[in-house]
Amino acid sequence: MIVDSVIMVDWSGGHDRGATPKRDAIWTCIARAGTAEAPVYHRNRQVAETYLRDTLAAELAAGRRTLAAFDLCFAYPTGFAERLTGTDDPLVLWDWFADRVEDSPAANNRFALAGQINAMFPGTGPFWGNGRPHHDVDHLPRKGRDRAGYGLPEHRATDRAAPGAFSPWQLSGAGAVGGQVIMGFPTLSRLRRHFGPALSVWPFQPPDTPLVLAESYFSLLPTTLLTDHPIRDAAQVALYARAFSALTPSEWDRVLDQDPTPEGWVLGLGHADLLARAARPALTPPPLRNDCFAMPQGAHWTPVDEALAHLRAHLAPITGTETIPLMQAAGRILSVPVTAARSHPPHDNAAVDGYAFAGPLPAGPHTLPLHPGRAAAGQPFSGTVPPGHALRILTGANIPAGTDTVVLQEDTTSSPTHIALHGPLKQRANARRAGEDMGAGDVVLPVRRRLTPADLATLAACGTATVTVHRPLRVGVLSTGNELRAPGQPATHGQIFDANRAMLLSDIAYWGHTPVDLGIAPDDRQTLQNILDDAATRCDAILTSGGASAGDEDHMSALLQGTGSLALWRIAMKPGRPLALGLWQGRPVFGLPGNPVAAQVCALVFAHPALAVLAGGDWPVPQGFDVPAAFTKSKKAGRREYLRARIANGAAEVFGSEGSGRVSGLSWASGLVALPDEAAEIGPGTPVTYLPFGSFGL
Ligand code: AMP
Ligand code: MG
Repeated sequence: MIVDSVIMVDWSGGHDRGATPKRDAIWTCIARAGTAEAPVYHRNRQVAETYLRDTLAAELAAGRRTLAAFDLCFAYPTGFAERLTGTDDPLVLWDWFADRVEDSPAANNRFALAGQINAMFPGTGPFWGNGRPHHDVDHLPRKGRDRAGYGLPEHRATDRAAPGAFSPWQLSGAGAVGGQVIMGFPTLSRLRRHFGPALSVWPFQPPDTPLVLAESYFSLLPTTLLTDHPIRDAAQVALYARAFSALTPSEWDRVLDQDPTPEGWVLGLGHADLLARAARPALTPPPLRNDCFAMPQGAHWTPVDEALAHLRAHLAPITGTETIPLMQAAGRILSVPVTAARSHPPHDNAAVDGYAFAGPLPAGPHTLPLHPGRAAAGQPFSGTVPPGHALRILTGANIPAGTDTVVLQEDTTSSPTHIALHGPLKQRANARRAGEDMGAGDVVLPVRRRLTPADLATLAACGTATVTVHRPLRVGVLSTGNELRAPGQPATHGQIFDANRAMLLSDIAYWGHTPVDLGIAPDDRQTLQNILDDAATRCDAILTSGGASAGDEDHMSALLQGTGSLALWRIAMKPGRPLALGLWQGRPVFGLPGNPVAAQVCALVFAHPALAVLAGGDWPVPQGFDVPAAFTKSKKAGRREYLRARIANGAAEVFGSEGSGRVSGLSWASGLVALPDEAAEIGPGTPVTYLPFGSFGL
């Protein structure tokens, strides 16, 4: 059988858990083809039931067969249902409970109801456990050992086969599941009634419907497979959703091949081997190929655009993924698209303060009687406004039943009983429509998106509590050269201060990666090799500067040569010497030139987009714009030139020297002017392309 979507549900028997995601609340996660979306937090059963009904409806509408599995017993041990309903059909028992359970976010009657049920059996039991220390509940013993003579088994057959399963009779104490079973049946019953013949319940009914409900149990897989989501329940639903959704159709046939015992059966029980295989995380992408930097030979100098196209075509994400709270996700890169958990706005609501009525109103003066009450944001009006009446309404309030249009307060005069206004007013004026911004189930943000502050607002608005993102890319920075000293260290003449490391580490932080300081390496092959070996254990990628050419002391290129992965790119650009690219123990290494200006320009032009892709993001293309030149230059053909530049009076002026060692010119500049590969005669007023440093992610 083909199952397109799997929804895992971690149910709860307790009260409302508040707005902040917490453990022991209700968590759900939907997965398709082995990829789970971010787990969704539900503060109480009411919102969870709405979400489940909407999500199942959306999957049904999209033509995806969907299995939703709940971690609650779908039936009680043999004999129980028969006593209450006269039949052993668990689905009849669901309806029986739906008629008797009282449930609201603040309170429910699960203990009292359990006591009433106990009274229907001989002896004392079967339910036991009382969550309230100072209130006895009639017929409900506090201890399991105080029960006797009720004549029912403690466990179902499937619970006896599932290691560590609790008895559904136990209503309180650590690990107890009895409460959530009682508080789950009404929701299951309503979902069945809502979807009618489109929905079946496994294993009681054949699962050949578009929607299937089943019972799950979150102890089938080793806990080592859980990702490090800060909330275990969230990690659990994500793992089980991902694992089940990765099953092949024939594996589903095996898992679902179960006789329809009225005691029910845990989905996947007895198939731990299949599940464990399916759950094996595809956490770390395959390594880069050893020849990923190899440039096609032939061209003497490689044009910049060709070099960029090559990198773009051969690089891929190298970091695994994790699911984290939205609040911590600024700057992180989505590895799974985010779909809206609910519409935004969720309901039609008022865009202004004023009065709501049924529109439209024709031209001319009108007087409308005021209906008592008011609608405010967070305090919806529960009644229906009679035709021809108006109701006081405030911005953000749900549009009350019987109305669809709002008149701005300033456009009315009012008495305690009436308002007067002038038409015409179009129907739905000043009303925001439910879902006009985002619809439930819409893809709101795509994969490879680096989350901006605004993205966090967008995702929060449609109910996203957690996101699945790439782990941060750890990028090491190493300076090489015998002449280098760290600023603050004593330096003899002949020695210079290491300018590149501070700059490149800071670039990496600006780009949203995790900088790793690898210090300074002397021009000594063995030492350099040891440093790279160590770096490969704690970095995902490495930037080095200096020693990248083919001279005697250019050990960086010599070492990469030894790995068989070196590519010395002779790029037709100024500034820039050869760019040494290679893999050190599988880690991409970007050997940048030593001169600070060349190091930075090569970092901005090549390392910035390359690292973005390695981190899981989109390939960024710097957005420049044409401005008139404020300088004169005769440019030769055959190479791209990047000049340190800044804008003054609407024109681009360039730094006085093109010397690649003149690091202060980088501080003087606010961007680069890129001159095309062809020859060019530039004078004051000639349009040139200016790329602000911001367009390189700084
Ligand atoms: P190299 O590529 O190693 O031949 O270095 C080219 C030039 O850049 C030499 O003048 C080096 O002294 C200088 N240089 C190399 N690395 C750095 C650094 N980290 N900071 C400042 N200058 C450097
Ligand atoms: Mg050097």
